[in-house]
Amino acid sequence: MKSLNKQQLLEDIMELNIKNAAIVDTNDILFSSQVRKYCEMNQCGKYGVNWACPPGVGPLSTLKEEALEYQQGLVLQTLHIISSSFDWKGMMAAKEAHEKVLRLALGLVKERYEITETLLLGAGSCEICASCSYEENQPCRYPDKALASLEAYGIDVVSLTKHCNMPYHHGANTVSYVGLILFKSP
Ligand code: SF4
Repeated sequence: MKSLNKQQLLEDIMELNIKNAAIVDTNDILFSSQVRKYCEMNQCGKYGVNWACPPGVGPLSTLKEEALEYQQGLVLQTLHIISSSFDWKGMMAAKEAHEKVLRLALGLVKERYEITETLLLGAGSCEICASCSYEENQPCRYPDKALASLEAYGIDVVSLTKHCNMPYHHGANTVSYVGLILFKSP
């Protein structure tokens, strides 16, 4: 594994379609039970129907412990244009584009920096399968590809963006998403 030049990593990552990027110590990430309570309110309709969302994803204490096994995190924010704040189709297309960028970023981290131990977190529920096997009471079909969100891990994204000096909102007719690649310090 190469020694990590953080500045170079951030420069390399900006080659992808990323609006903002920062590296944080995982000890500076705020894990909050309140975030998981928002999941329970189920405004997105994904609570209890997806392995990557609560409660299927696991208890907050276990996920926090898992996340803290990694010392650092690469925070990635993507920005997308939508036609209005009701443009659901645009938001879903943006989420898909965000995940594509996250997976490219993960590939870059692994290949260019030879960092092998990582945990990728995205935005929203896992959408790999048309219908998640959670509802069929069957194990996840693609556990190596399934993507949980920062919120499912109880991460307070507003605090995280503030800590990284990233704006959370980017104005009318835009949507931004935040992803996180946790990695072990080289
Ligand atoms: S990979 Fe499929 S089964 Fe697994 S969490 Fe994602 S949608 Fe559900």
